[in-house]
Amino acid sequence: MTDSVEMFETIIDLTRSIYGDGFIPLHRPVFDGNEKQYLIDCIDSNFVSSVGKRVTEFEQKIAAFTGAKHAVATVNGTAALHVSLLLAGVERGDEVISQAVTFIATCNALSYAGAHAVFVDVDRETLGMSPDALRRFLAAHVTRRSGQAFNKRTGRRIAACVPMHTFGLPCRIEEIVALCRDSGITVIEDAAESLGSYVGRRHTGTFGKMATLSFNGNKVITTGGGGMIITDDDELAVRAKHLTTTAKIPHPYEFVHDLTGFNYRMPNLNAALGCAQMEELPRFLAIKADVARRYGEFFDRHDIQYMRAPAGTKSNYWLNAIVLDSLAERDAFLEYSNAQGVMTRPIWRLMTRLEMYKDCQHDGLENSRWLEERVINLPSSVPDSAIVAT
Ligand SMILES: *Cc1c(COP(=O)(O)O)cnc(C)c1O
Repeated sequence: MTDSVEMFETIIDLTRSIYGDGFIPLHRPVFDGNEKQYLIDCIDSNFVSSVGKRVTEFEQKIAAFTGAKHAVATVNGTAALHVSLLLAGVERGDEVISQAVTFIATCNALSYAGAHAVFVDVDRETLGMSPDALRRFLAAHVTRRSGQAFNKRTGRRIAACVPMHTFGLPCRIEEIVALCRDSGITVIEDAAESLGSYVGRRHTGTFGKMATLSFNGNKVITTGGGGMIITDDDELAVRAKHLTTTAKIPHPYEFVHDLTGFNYRMPNLNAALGCAQMEELPRFLAIKADVARRYGEFFDRHDIQYMRAPAGTKSNYWLNAIVLDSLAERDAFLEYSNAQGVMTRPIWRLMTRLEMYKDCQHDGLENSRWLEERVINLPSSVPDSAIVAT
């Protein structure tokens, strides 16, 4: 791009027309509904911790919203992923296929389960796992024995596949699920970023055996910290609740635990915040769709690639993203915008470029590398102008 600085200025002007003057964060939470009231009620009732009715209520709200049969709240999204992998039967020494374009939590969770990550490439259109890359990887490296998948190079079992819906853009999940079904691999969707994103009329996270959500402070809605496992499987849901709540056998006064469980329960205080945030979610999504429309129209006009939900899908537009022409341009824009007080961020450094995952098997990651050098996230919060005075 020849007139880069002039172009950068125009982008900054656009973000200021949406978000106003002063520092503009990438994504900040909004509490303009019943949040304070529900928190006060919680404190007044003394049920702030591991017992209380808000957890069940929040789980029911998430199940109803996503259309999943069951929802199990957890202390954060990473914990939800960890437990989901264990429930999928992932054991120490197994392999899990995932994408190198993701937030570190995806890989950390599978490391906690003792599994080795294997990375396949993403699609440039979705930023999520590419079923084409997955198909090629399975054909070249995977063999089936007694209904299970094994990596021909390492001899290890491939127990699960964790695709991720990047920035809320749905990946080609139906094709991924079909490929994994044929190979005997369990799919767990990392839907941490995609609450409110759909493939057709079906919510992301309802295609795999299980999916996990996150309610960290920067997500579409927040519980301060929190996560959720969603599934249609009755037995998995019961086991998820058991494993995340210290595996205690219900009893009026005795402490009996039948497994080494986890203290991954979401506190009632956080769930209360979640219940209030769920009341606002449809509104937040409509406002974010409007912000995305403004970004999209602007970048179309200026011939800059803006990441839209692929045909037949709906994104929550958690984080808006553009694709610049080169690493040099990306770096120049990051420098310029952040110096102007407009927070922008590059996409995550590829997992394979981090010390812990640098030796993991991968397929070359052509699109992942290309995107890593070019993708930038723009401010994406609900604008101040849309916040209701409380
Ligand atoms: C936010 C996020 C998670 C979960 O993060 P927590 O902070 O543990 O809730 C997992 N995967 C991805 C891709 C995320 O963006």
